[in-house]
Amino acid sequence: MLTQMTRLEERWQAYTRRPEAGILADVVLALHGLGEELTRLNLLRVARICEGIEALGLGYMEGGAASLSETQRQAFSRQIDTLHAAIDLFMAHPREQRQQHEELAWTAARRIAVFIAGEVPAPDILPLLDTIRQIGFEVEEATLDRTFTHPERGHVAALLFPSEAMHDAALLDWVQTVRQHCPYTQLILRTPSRDMETQVALLRAGVDVLLQQNEGSEQILRLLLELTEVHEAAAYRVMVVEDSRVASTIIQRTLREHGIDSEAVRDPAEVLDRLDSYQPDLVLMDMQMPKLDGIEATRVIRQQRRWRALPIVYLSGEQNIARQIEALRLGGDQFLGKPFNPIMLAAVIKTSVERYRTAQRHTQLDGLTGLLRHGVALQRLELLMEAARQQPLTVAMLDIDHFKAINDSYGHPVGDRVIMALAWLLRGKLRSTDLIARFGGEEFLIALPGADAMTAQAVLEQLRERFAGQLHGKNDTLLQASFSAGIATYHAGMTVGELIELADAALLQAKQQGRNRVVLAETGDNQGRL
Ligand code: GH3
Ligand code: MG
Ligand code: MG
Ligand code: MG
Repeated sequence: MLTQMTRLEERWQAYTRRPEAGILADVVLALHGLGEELTRLNLLRVARICEGIEALGLGYMEGGAASLSETQRQAFSRQIDTLHAAIDLFMAHPREQRQQHEELAWTAARRIAVFIAGEVPAPDILPLLDTIRQIGFEVEEATLDRTFTHPERGHVAALLFPSEAMHDAALLDWVQTVRQHCPYTQLILRTPSRDMETQVALLRAGVDVLLQQNEGSEQILRLLLELTEVHEAAAYRVMVVEDSRVASTIIQRTLREHGIDSEAVRDPAEVLDRLDSYQPDLVLMDMQMPKLDGIEATRVIRQQRRWRALPIVYLSGEQNIARQIEALRLGGDQFLGKPFNPIMLAAVIKTSVERYRTAQRHTQLDGLTGLLRHGVALQRLELLMEAARQQPLTVAMLDIDHFKAINDSYGHPVGDRVIMALAWLLRGKLRSTDLIARFGGEEFLIALPGADAMTAQAVLEQLRERFAGQLHGKNDTLLQASFSAGIATYHAGMTVGELIELADAALLQAKQQGRNRVVLAETGDNQGRL
């Protein structure tokens, strides 16, 4: 049984015994926590049901209803039962469940459902699906007359291709039917341009993303990879700067209940060091603290270029409006009062972090490939190395073989396509917790936390084989490419530079041994003492 489900049941029973607004808020909180637990377990379908009930509960709360009417209570109770049944149903398939967990995602494909209307698909659809498969997604074609079991479980998205001749009403009908078939999946619809009114109707009918007919495979691939990354994004990290032990304990508990990671800093003088070591997505800042107050701490943080965009939210009992305004003027983003409303706090954190992460993508990611840039990769690797005390960590350096020759024979743009193909294969096949960076022109650095050398070698071999089997370019100028890789495992005491040097040396050997191969770094007696 999921811990959050138990908690939900307890709270709901408490509410039926004592229908008070505060206990109803607890029920909604429990629903929220459960939704996040389900999402973490990748039970996205049930998570969506849960979110729906949470929204219902929030609606009741906002209505100011201290207690629900009998009909409302029954309806709500039914919804919770349905949710419970849905969870049980899923848990009753332990094998499938286990498989989802074992999806260390290195071997398991992420799935995309595809709905194509009409007899003959548009000519570019089948090649597009091939490309999606090439980068490691499993594409499941689904039509509404062929039954499609569990089309939504674990799917990153469903792609919808209506036939060109479909008029608006038929298209809407079709979309609604698809939506009923998979109520909980992101629907991406590609359609010739429709007027504003129809677009609104399509969004209402359940489309999440509308793509223009002329948007090519590149656009769709980027979108799918981004959805995957958002879908599997790591927990939010919040740094709580708060001198009161009691207050920070309460705040951290609330955050934990919402699946948000946090770290407390009691002495604001330590803030800069702790930012570097913890790398938060947001800071919750108290205002009144001894020595250095929250506004001053914020000003210091803002002096650092890399923290200039970091969301800083004040959480403080400060009543003085002038001082609140001052706090915002000097670098804070928002102001929340104490005592805080936990749901509001979680919502503010969620939206701020999402916006921040989206903005960060643009500065940290390489435009061509959507991978981390060199400098950011080094910082991240350092963090992974710090965390590597509990689990192994293996890195690999990849370099495309004879790439100059590809550029020379087929032109720079074709070379770029080959770089993108490898980048997308890495993004498509590796786990969201792996570090993937474009280290140089056609050089990539990856780091696999939790993988020992043998595992990493197996993963790299798979990638190597897959990539070497891909065809790039257009009909008349098809070409194949390959990469070589050097693998090195982290040992305590190594610096980032030393680890990368080891992987580089192994890469050089792979090149010397004939390319298109994976070589493990020498690990002699002197490992870790280089
Ligand atoms: P090797 O098998 O030894 O790696 O041979 P190579 O030809 O790949 O040699 P090297 O790795 O030194 O060559 C890298 C080339 O990649 C040189 C540079 O012109 C080209 N390159 C670097 N960045 C880009 C890019 O963004 N796009 C394209 N098309 N080419 C690039
Ligand atoms: Mg204080
Ligand atoms: Mg190179
Ligand atoms: Mg090369």
